[in-house]
This record gives sequence, structure tokens and C-alpha cells, in this order.
Amino acid sequence: MDHKDKIKIAVTVASLAVISIFFTTQYRRRRKLKCPPSSCYLQTEPKPQHNFKRVLADNSYSPFKHAKNEKSSGGHPYEAEITALLEKPPPEFKFVTDDLKLNESFVWVRSKLQLEELAITLSRETVFAVDTEQHSLRSFLGFTALIQISTEKEDYLIDTMALHDEMSILHPVFSDPGICKVFHGADNDVLWLQRDFCLYVVNLFDTAKACEVLSKPQKSLAYLLETYCNVTTNKLLQREDWRQRPLPPEMLQYAQTDAHYLLYIAKCLIDELKQQETENSSRPNDKFNFVLEASRRSNMVCLQLYTKEFESYPGEAVASAILYRQLNGQGDVSSISCKTQFQELVRRLCTWRDLMARVHDESLRFVLSEQAIVALADKVPATATDICFTIAQADLDVDSVNFNSCLPSPSPVVCSHLGDLHNLIQDKLGNLDDIFQAILHKCLGPNGSCPLSVFNYTILAKCNLKLIPQRNRLVYKQNGWVKNSKQFARKASRELFVQKFSCKAPVYHNCRIYANDGRLLCYCDRRKLDWYIHRNLAKLVDDDPPAIMLLFEPKGRPEDEGNDFYIQSKKNICVGCGEGNHYLRYRIIPSCYRMHFPEHLKSHRSHDIVLLCVDCHEVAHAAAEKYKKQIAAEFGIPLFIHKVVDLKQAQDRPSSSMKTEETGVSPLQLRTAAMALLRHGPRMPTVRREELRQIVMRYYGGREISEEDLERALLVGMSPRERRRLGKKRGVYLKHSTCVDVSKEEHNNFSGGTEKSATVGATEANNLDGLLATETEPFGEKEIHHFATVMDDDISNTGFDQVTSSTNNKNRNSIGSEVSDTKDDYDGNDDDVYENRSVTNGTVDLLYPTYDGSGSPKHNSKLSLLGHGPHGKQVVDYLLQEYGDDGIRQFCQRWRQVFVEAIHPSFLPAGWDVQHSGRREFGEFSVYNPAKKTVAAASMS
Ligand code: AMP
Ligand code: ZN
Ligand code: MN
Repeated sequence: MDHKDKIKIAVTVASLAVISIFFTTQYRRRRKLKCPPSSCYLQTEPKPQHNFKRVLADNSYSPFKHAKNEKSSGGHPYEAEITALLEKPPPEFKFVTDDLKLNESFVWVRSKLQLEELAITLSRETVFAVDTEQHSLRSFLGFTALIQISTEKEDYLIDTMALHDEMSILHPVFSDPGICKVFHGADNDVLWLQRDFCLYVVNLFDTAKACEVLSKPQKSLAYLLETYCNVTTNKLLQREDWRQRPLPPEMLQYAQTDAHYLLYIAKCLIDELKQQETENSSRPNDKFNFVLEASRRSNMVCLQLYTKEFESYPGEAVASAILYRQLNGQGDVSSISCKTQFQELVRRLCTWRDLMARVHDESLRFVLSEQAIVALADKVPATATDICFTIAQADLDVDSVNFNSCLPSPSPVVCSHLGDLHNLIQDKLGNLDDIFQAILHKCLGPNGSCPLSVFNYTILAKCNLKLIPQRNRLVYKQNGWVKNSKQFARKASRELFVQKFSCKAPVYHNCRIYANDGRLLCYCDRRKLDWYIHRNLAKLVDDDPPAIMLLFEPKGRPEDEGNDFYIQSKKNICVGCGEGNHYLRYRIIPSCYRMHFPEHLKSHRSHDIVLLCVDCHEVAHAAAEKYKKQIAAEFGIPLFIHKVVDLKQAQDRPSSSMKTEETGVSPLQLRTAAMALLRHGPRMPTVRREELRQIVMRYYGGREISEEDLERALLVGMSPRERRRLGKKRGVYLKHSTCVDVSKEEHNNFSGGTEKSATVGATEANNLDGLLATETEPFGEKEIHHFATVMDDDISNTGFDQVTSSTNNKNRNSIGSEVSDTKDDYDGNDDDVYENRSVTNGTVDLLYPTYDGSGSPKHNSKLSLLGHGPHGKQVVDYLLQEYGDDGIRQFCQRWRQVFVEAIHPSFLPAGWDVQHSGRREFGEFSVYNPAKKTVAAASMS
């Protein structure tokens, strides 16, 4: 047996092992009924980039969107600033030190706060050096894993994976024409910074360009380091895996070195450039400004824009290249006789690989090597085992020469989707037109095998773009898998929604609280136990699951009331259908009413908060929305209100005569329409544009609307707090601004304004709508409403943070979504309200004039919170006035009834009932107050 045969056997055994593991896990998974059939390696091996909340460049086949700027319509957002720099040399910067030694220390930046501090530090500099490290093997488009920044005083290494969603903090310093950024060979870095962080470099000095102008023999950084600094570096480290954390010391040192000496090198090169000028100054007429030329060439680099590459069908470019090589005699394909089949297979494999790489966010090479594609197309292996063998063999042949050998072959992508690959090769998937959709459907469709992520879900959502030829569009009718792409996309969005917003940690901890006589009082979460323990009000009596015993006599006992609801152990499942994989908290009494209940009628307990899976949640939510309309009609109190522009109109329209549906526009509808018009207006089909315009016009009382109206409409229905958040996120503080001011600021932001204060906006303009538009664009209004209102309603108090910030990921999953037993839940909202009250009045009033007949707007900051304007408050006021407390209690019962009728819940805890009275105060423990020597109701706030 020769060496090659031995390898063959080893490879076959290895592949068989892989396959058998694959089938066993498949089998095991199938037996679990609740889990969707999952075969993809990513199910058990999540990738670091999955922690990114937002990506600017996703793997869809749609073009990259750059930040916008009024002045440079469609082009580079800083075209004007950069062009100005091409004309005159940038102001000189002076170096304080000549000290070249590399400090052993550097600053490792990995928190938002540190990054903010760095931004402030850098804003005070006139020059700093930058370098970036990329990761490209396990990513489709690649991403920046590290940014090194050096000032004369300090070296900073920024963990851009931890801070991926916060990097826009550096936007102002990077685009500040007054601060020079020194790079070496910035061509790629400039594009990468745009791609990942929407950072645009303005005012660049590229030491490689300086080398060009000076006609240096070499222009590599290694050469410059050796020549000017007497430092040698191991450039092989460049190709290391920069995702790893912690980074090994030699990689940290390499990274630090790459930026540390750049300022000194730049200084040396600038001196040489100046010297060249004086040497050539004997001929003043053709005086060549060397410094200006180096700076000009550098800033030309800044003018480049990142773009995604496009092909007329996925994988086409590579397929053509492979075929060109093979058919022109450069390859060694044996079966020339089967030319057509070979070509067809190469194309199919390239398409498959392209799609797989995008779906899994892997590089093409990682999915399947070109030599493996050629081998597969040539040999047309008949079985799954043969496929694995062919790939492994092809890679072994080439990698023994190359140094890629550390890559797994066949890749995990191939292994976990071997069935598809087999069908593809055996021509069982129909023509190429269908393959694309079939695979996409299998991976990301309703019961898709592969995890949805921010990188891949838009492949579905945006797939029916013009970029993909008609024949490849995602509207597949024959097989009836998918009725249309909208439905398809909606499914994907739902999955992602589940992933992002459902409670990741169990909501109920089922910790127990016993009275001092040993009787069980209730179940609750861990936080509540800790609260009592820390105040020495209870002692721990059990560990797993934890239980405490109170050291004081509680005010009431659950059994006193003949209701054992509070001593039921609550299960972490949907109370509707029992689903245990994903659930959200659902508030049975809509917050828009409950928030206006008098304090003593708010039951600060879990009775009216239940867990529902996303599907039941949607059903319950729809029923609640419908019932709100019924209430609106019954009470004659409209759900939504017009913005009335002039007083005369207001007087013409007394509130009681306002009909709910016909006259009103929901703030959400309005915001979505305005957002869509602002972002896509000119490119929209006329009919759709008109439809949306009508919605906005209806809000403004039917008059013509301007761009400014659209921008103002974006803020409608947001609480002042949300608006401030939004403002902060875009780098603008809206705290005391009036409606008009707000719209001005907005305007700046949307155009990616160039003033320092507004520059952060560009990214966020993209991102804010990440919340609304990206999620909603492809879907029908019902879904938009459900998903967005869930965000508004269910997670609004902590939710805006959760959705948009990345830093507290873990917190969100545990603490943030947990509490539900006591008043905390609702109190989040109340806090908002109190805060609103103290912060601003004017804004709310302007957006929500109330119609009390007097024509003067009432001050009421509770109005806008959940997007229903004054409806909730008016209903509650009416009930209290007509029926007193009982009116509210009955109102609550009606809502429970609505809930029960909509869901027919089979998994409600025993003791839950529609009648549940709000009078009993047991759920809230009485607590001994040592200061007052009294017993008072416990509250954890
Ligand atoms: P540098 O500009 O040398 O800091 O390189 C920045 C990034 O570009 C590295 O982190 C690599 O990901 C990538 N890169 C540059 N040159 C190469 C190369 N020859 N091979 C692989 N990756 C490279
Ligand atoms: Zn997969
Ligand atoms: Mn580097």
C-alpha cells in the first residue's frame, strides 16, 4: 500500500465518521418534537459576529448603503471636505517627542465608556495613527476585528468585536478635516471602516503614498520600520485569527507595533518631502509641491466608496474563471468528453457555494475550495461518502503545496448540508433557476435548518431585487412552498424576532418564600429573594431551588383569600399552547390604560402578566387591538388623533364626533410611512408612494406635506424619553427642544450633517430604522404593527436599550427580561412617566393637543407613551368618573375575558381567573420597617 492509498483510507474513515456523527445527531434531534429539524453546524457552534446587533453590510444581494449628505448627492458623504483637502496641503502637525521606544503598555479599549473617553482624547489631537486587523476566513464579507490607534503619548487597541455597535462614537474624529489620520497603505482600511462602522476618513496621510512620491525602493511597512526605526516585524502574524480573545501577547505586540511607529515614520517622510521641495526649488516655475502631492494622493484614497460586488447570478464570476482555466488547458480535467455536464456542474457548485457562504457567513474558500469544485464537477461522485472523499482528496493534493492545510476538509458547511450537495450533483434539484430558491428555503425558510442572523435574514427579505435576474427571483409558485416572497420574508423576520426579543433566560425562577411558621407564601424570582436577604428580612432555608423564610409576620396569607394562584409554581412555557422554546411577557391589560389607573388599583403582581410564545402573542395582541377599537367606539373616544394644524379645524372637530378608523392615523403607521417616504420615496412605485403620502397627509389634516413634515412625523407617538434616546443615539441631545427644534436636528442627522455634533448621525440614521424600517419594510402592515408594538409595548421600558445597544447583551437575557412577580414590571413604565413629567412639557403638547373644548392644550406627559395619544387616559377617566373603582375592576375583567377568548389558554397556572380581584394585597409582601417600626408593603424599587 503506497502513501497515497493510506491517506485515502484515512480520509475515507474520517469522512465516514463525520457523516455518521451527522446522521446520529440528526436522528437525536428529530426525536425532540418541539425543536425544528436542525442539522446545521452553526446550531451548536455560534460565531462571534452573531453578537453584532446590526451590520451595515449584510450578505444579501442588495447594494451597500452609504451615509447620506445633502451636499454630495449620492456620492461620498464627505466629498466636499475631502476635495477641499486635495487643493491645499493640510495644516502641519508638530511632534513633541522623538522617543521611539515601544511602550510596553497600551490601552485596551473594550467598553463604550472607554471608547467615549478615547474619542474625547483624539478630538484634542491634530494627528493620530491608525491601523486595522481583519478577519476574513470565517466571514463572507470579512470584518474588522481590531483597530489600533496611536497618539504620540499612547497606543490604543480597540476591541472592535466587543464594540462593534458602538464604533460610531469615533465618527466625528475620523471625519474631522482638522485632524490628520496617518495610515500605511490605507486603500483597504478606508473601505473596511466604511463597511463595518460607517466611519469615513477625512484628512489622511498615507505613508505608502509618501513612499511613492519619494520613489522609495520599497513601500512596505516592514521596510519602513526597518529603515527608520530599526524594528523588524513578523508579517505572518497579519494572517492570524484576529478574532481570538484574549489575543496572545505576540499578536498584541505586533498590532501595537503596526501603529505605534507610524507617526514617527510620517514625520521622517514629510521631512524628506520638504527637503525634495527645497532641492528642486532652483527651478521655481515647475516647482513640485511634494508634501501636497503625497497628501493629495492620500486623500484620493479617502474618496473611495465601499461597494459589494455583484454578479448576474450568484457565483458566476468564479465559475467563469474556473471554466476559463480548465477549458484553456490550464486544468487537468480528465473527462473532456463531458464538457457540457462539467460546465453545468461547476456553475451549480459555484452558485451553491456562494449561497451557502452567505447563509452561514463564511468565506467562499472555507465552504468549498476551487480545486474541490473542479474535482466534484469532473468526477461526479455518486454517494455522499464519495463526495466527502473527492473534496478531501482535492484539498490534500493542493494543500500539501499550499499552506492552507489547517482548514477542515470537507468543511462543516459541506458536512451538515451534504444531502443538498448530493442532490445538486446528482441533478435532483431541477434546473439552476430552482436550486437557488430550493436551498434558500431549506436553510432559512419556515423550518430552515440554519440559524438566522443579522447577516443572512435580508437575503430572504431583499432577494427579489432587480439585481438578481428574473429567473432567479424568489417567487416560487409551482411547488407551493411559498406563496410569495413577502410571506417568506415574514417567516424569516419572525424567527429573527423570536431570537432577538423572546426571553432567553427562564422568566420564573420558582424560588420560594416561606412565612416564619414555615408555610409557603409564594413563588418568585431570584432578585426578590436577594432583596429580602440583603435587608436581613429573611434567611435562606434551601439552595436548589432557593427558598427563604421571612423573619417577620407577613400581613396576609394566600390561603386566607381562598386563592392559591400565588403559591403555584409557574412554568416557563407559553400559557396558551405550552411552547417552551420561546416566549415573551404579555400584558393582559394594555399599558395605555393601566398606566392611568389610580395607584391603589394597579395590581402590582403577576396575575395580568403571562408568558406567551410569539405566535400566541401575535394572536392575543391582534385581539387586544381589535378590542381597543371596540372600546373606542363604545365610549366614543378615538384611538388615534389627528394632528390639527389650525385652531379653526380643532373647533370644527369636537372629540366625541371623531371616528376611530376613518379619521385617525396611528403614530406607528405614520412613522413607518414617513420613514419609508424619506428613505425610499423617489425610488418607490408611484402607487405605493401615493398610498404612503395619503397616510401622512391624513395626519396633517389633508394638506400638502413637505419634507420637513415627514421628518417631524418621525417623532410622533414617541415619548420624550424615547425621543431623547433617539437623539442621544444620533449624537444629538433633544432634551429641551421644541417640536421645531427637534425637526431641525433631525434634518441634520438624516443628511449625515457635517457639523461635529451631527456627524454621528449618519450611522444611526441607518440604524434607527433598523428598528422600524429594516424589520418592517418587507412585511404587511399587520406584522409591522405586531412586531413594532411588541417592541413599543412589551419592552419599551428597557426595550429600546435592548434592541439597539449591544453592550448589555447578557444582562438583557437574564435580569432584564426576568422580573415578573411583583410590581417591577409595570413600574418600569411608571418611572418613564415620572421622568417625562419632570423633563419636558412642550414637546408632548405640541404633538398631542388635547381637545378639551377650551382649545388650549393640556399638559399631560403620559399621553404619548405608547402611541395612543390621549385615548387610554380618557377611557380611564371616564370609567372612574362614571363607575369609580369598580369600573376599573370590571374593565380589567373584560380584558382578561378578551384574552381568554382569543387564546383559549390551556396552561394558565391554577388559580388564575378572570374575576381576580385587585383588592387583595397579598402578592406584595408586607415588610417590617425597622426605622418606622411598622410593617409596610414591600417594594423593591
Ligand atoms: P495590515 O495593513 O498589515 O495591518 O493588514 C491588515 C489586515 O489585512 C490583516 O489583519 C489581514 O487580515 C489582511 N491582510 C493583509 N495582507 C494580507 C496577506 N498577505 N494575507 C492575508 N491577509 C492579509
Ligand atoms: Zn446550515
Ligand atoms: Mn496591521
